[in-house]
Amino acid sequence: MSGLHVYNTRKRKKELFEPLEAGKVKMYVCGVTVYDYCHLGHARCYVAFDIIHRYLEHLGYRVTYVQNITDLDDKLINRARESDGEKDIKTRVAELAARFTAAYFEDMDRLNILRADLYPTATGNIPRMREIIAGLLEKGVAYRRGGDVYFQVSAFPGYGELSGKNPDDLRAGARVEVDGRKKNPLDFALWKEAAPGEPSWPSPWGEGRPGWHIECSAMSTNLLGATFDIHGGGQDLIFPHHENERAQSMAFTGKPFARYWLHNGFVTINREKMSKSLGNVFNLRDIFKKYKPRVVRFFLLSQHYRSPVDYSGEALDEAGRALFRLDNCYGLARLAGEEIFSLPPDPGVMAGFEEAMNDDFNTAAALAGVYRVVEEFYKNYRKPELPSGLPARLSAVKKICAVLGVDLVDPIHEPAPAGEISDYSALADRLIGGDTLTEDNLRALVSCRELARQNRDWELSDRIRDYLGAKGVSLMDRKGAPTAAVYYPEQLDGE
Ligand SMILES: [Zn+2]
Repeated sequence: MSGLHVYNTRKRKKELFEPLEAGKVKMYVCGVTVYDYCHLGHARCYVAFDIIHRYLEHLGYRVTYVQNITDLDDKLINRARESDGEKDIKTRVAELAARFTAAYFEDMDRLNILRADLYPTATGNIPRMREIIAGLLEKGVAYRRGGDVYFQVSAFPGYGELSGKNPDDLRAGARVEVDGRKKNPLDFALWKEAAPGEPSWPSPWGEGRPGWHIECSAMSTNLLGATFDIHGGGQDLIFPHHENERAQSMAFTGKPFARYWLHNGFVTINREKMSKSLGNVFNLRDIFKKYKPRVVRFFLLSQHYRSPVDYSGEALDEAGRALFRLDNCYGLARLAGEEIFSLPPDPGVMAGFEEAMNDDFNTAAALAGVYRVVEEFYKNYRKPELPSGLPARLSAVKKICAVLGVDLVDPIHEPAPAGEISDYSALADRLIGGDTLTEDNLRALVSCRELARQNRDWELSDRIRDYLGAKGVSLMDRKGAPTAAVYYPEQLDGE
């Protein structure tokens, strides 16, 4: 047994994680609606569940990870309508969805998110949705109104259990339904009658399209079975989406649905809620112009997945510096000996990592353990010998970073590619003149200095050293080392 404890939203507490089948984990996470580019909220969710995915595999579980793609909904249809169309609406929706699905995978790849095993689509699962709706009607927990079919919330006794909401309070608080078709304001659509200009499919209740919630019930139970281990998503999905998903799935199968419900926290931007009206919904592509995707990933995983995280330029710069410090430690340690990273990782450091992660995937605590080793290294690396055991602890650091999906980059052995520097002297002049010391510029300057030294251009070599020194970055030349080493950058300018 791994000793992993997870916070289960349904129980509102942490509990020991025991999968249904020993050694295997079945996990479903609500995916994106592919009508636009992904924003930071998406990155937060999928980085969080990527870490969970990777850590479960680190523990030795065989994980089956399913994430749906919502390629049919009002936002998609509205946007597809805007496109001038000779083609029918179904084709236009499909084309729009294909475009943003591709963009989604590009963005997730840049964040080093491992692919799920299956990405079912809503439009690919209509028959299963019809099957569930027919079953719910037969059981008397759903009813028809014209060409619509609704789920009758009062017919499912466990409604409200996931979100901790009391159906009576919800009913009292519900806005007066404009649409008088529902028996009760909490009832929700399983099937919607076709409206003019919308894609539709045939059904026993007439032409129409499925509601949103039914999509996840159809795909999860179809691919993972009636009962599976983990259902995940953002906290904003707990109510009503996950509450409804759970109700209709359990009413249909008569069995328990997801056993552990995991939800990631919100992202705020400079302490404000992300919202279209505030104009602060940044898409990832714009953020990646400013910050490397691996820095964004590192920023997100620096906090526990359930805590709120606040995005700001300062926070991203700080994450960039912290990551550079890790990279730099890795590079310096390689100078001390390449073999360090082939050593078996120190069991004590690994145990500390697992203890932190077994506490509901506490990446913040896991990183604290990493930083302790890094600090120990910075205190000792100039000594002729590293303290005993430190090499194995460094090997553990590299291993932990890999489990977290952060592959360390050696800034010393992998400076700016040589091919990019055709004229090192001109490049150095330009970078010093430009006076913006980013991580990339720093690497390039170290390379320029190395080339200058090879060409016995001591004047330039000294000038680069002095410039960097004034910026708080020291250079260290070691006998026999392939290149000058950078250490302790106190401050890098924002990228
Ligand atoms: Zn869902």
